[in-house]
Amino acid sequence: MRKFKTESKKLLDLMINSIYTNREIFLRELISNASDAVDKLYFKSLTDKSIQLSKDELAIQVSFDKDARTVTVSDSGIGMTKDELDRNLGTIAHSDSMAFKMENDEVQGDDVDIIGQFGVGFYSSFMVGKSVRVVSKAYGSDEAWAWESDGVEGYTIEPAERAEHGTDVIITLKDNTDDDNYDAYLSEYGLKDLVKRYSNYVRYPIRMEVTKS
Ligand code: ADP
Ligand code: MG
Repeated sequence: MRKFKTESKKLLDLMINSIYTNREIFLRELISNASDAVDKLYFKSLTDKSIQLSKDELAIQVSFDKDARTVTVSDSGIGMTKDELDRNLGTIAHSDSMAFKMENDEVQGDDVDIIGQFGVGFYSSFMVGKSVRVVSKAYGSDEAWAWESDGVEGYTIEPAERAEHGTDVIITLKDNTDDDNYDAYLSEYGLKDLVKRYSNYVRYPIRMEVTKS
């Protein structure tokens, strides 16, 4: 197991246990990361004419599995190599998307509030998840890797399978308690409601795939 850096671990504890009571924003954060990943590939395609993106590759998928108690956000974006999984998800507050957005601000052609676009990030998934598995294949690579963590001490990275480039973030929800019920995230209605409320601005289509109902 690879350990989270000490400062990351502290932040993670703080985030999961106290600051953000509004845990439902995890979906917004994952969808925003998926959208960033599609952006990155899209911008690459503007200068690299060998990259032809289909409509399906631009869409973001949200799905759930009631029996497995999982919620999954998938994209066909740029994906991550093994090193990128380690670097980007092993260190809290590491943001290469921020650098990317700064660089590409001109490309986007508008005066977006960059700071305002940054939320609490990937680790918000641990507010609802007892474990999170990220399966990713970087564009142009033929290897897929799975990053997995319970959000406590550290994480593992193992070889995995994925047909095409992109990323799946699979959250196994925490068990329900008397005070906390996570079942709203295991329904089409509940997830659609979150998408409508928090991810209305996302420029790519968000599709809901119902695995089990
Ligand atoms: P931020 O989005 O502000 O950079 P996050 O904590 O949300 O911070 O994500 C950390 C980093 O992990 C991102 O900058 C990106 O490099 C990587 N990442 C997260 N989700 C994805 C994804 N779906 N596809 C590719 N890279 C991702
Ligand atoms: Mg993010």
